[in-house]
Amino acid sequence: MCGIRPELTIDRRNLAHLFAAGAGLTLLPIRVRAADVAALALTCIDYRLVDDTVRFFESVHLTNEYDQVALAGASLAAVSPKFPSSNAAFWDHVDIAKQLHHVKKVVFVDHRDCGAYKVAFGKEFAVAHDPETAQHKSVMQQAKTILAQKHPDLGCEVYLMALDGTAERIA
Ligand SMILES: [Zn+2]
Repeated sequence: MCGIRPELTIDRRNLAHLFAAGAGLTLLPIRVRAADVAALALTCIDYRLVDDTVRFFESVHLTNEYDQVALAGASLAAVSPKFPSSNAAFWDHVDIAKQLHHVKKVVFVDHRDCGAYKVAFGKEFAVAHDPETAQHKSVMQQAKTILAQKHPDLGCEVYLMALDGTAERIA
């Protein structure tokens, strides 16, 4: 028994890679970020769409340019009386994102087959494609209206994401 676990040994080649990686890091230009970002995003918490949501924000040219709040139901969390603590958390974070990063707009990203919508609407939850779109549109319009009242200086974009990660702009 030599006492050294094989997975902890570093051979010369691995060591060279480590040094190369270290040298590369020091040569990378350091991006000095301004304190401002473009947007605050409100998304659902749903695990199925976490990676798609990151890709979505890349597609709208907001990579690393948004603060993010994730609350079950997304726009529903902002307005539904069924989720009062989520309502408060979201609107608090609009204030925080404005103060910290001077966001210029809020981007709401709802998604289809949302568990929070099922909870909030119960038997009224719309399963079929078009009624489901209409249900989200109605909630998102409420969120947009309240946002305009509370923060008339902020823009607003509203998207509905399908489970394959494609998103359509609703308003
Ligand atoms: Zn959801």
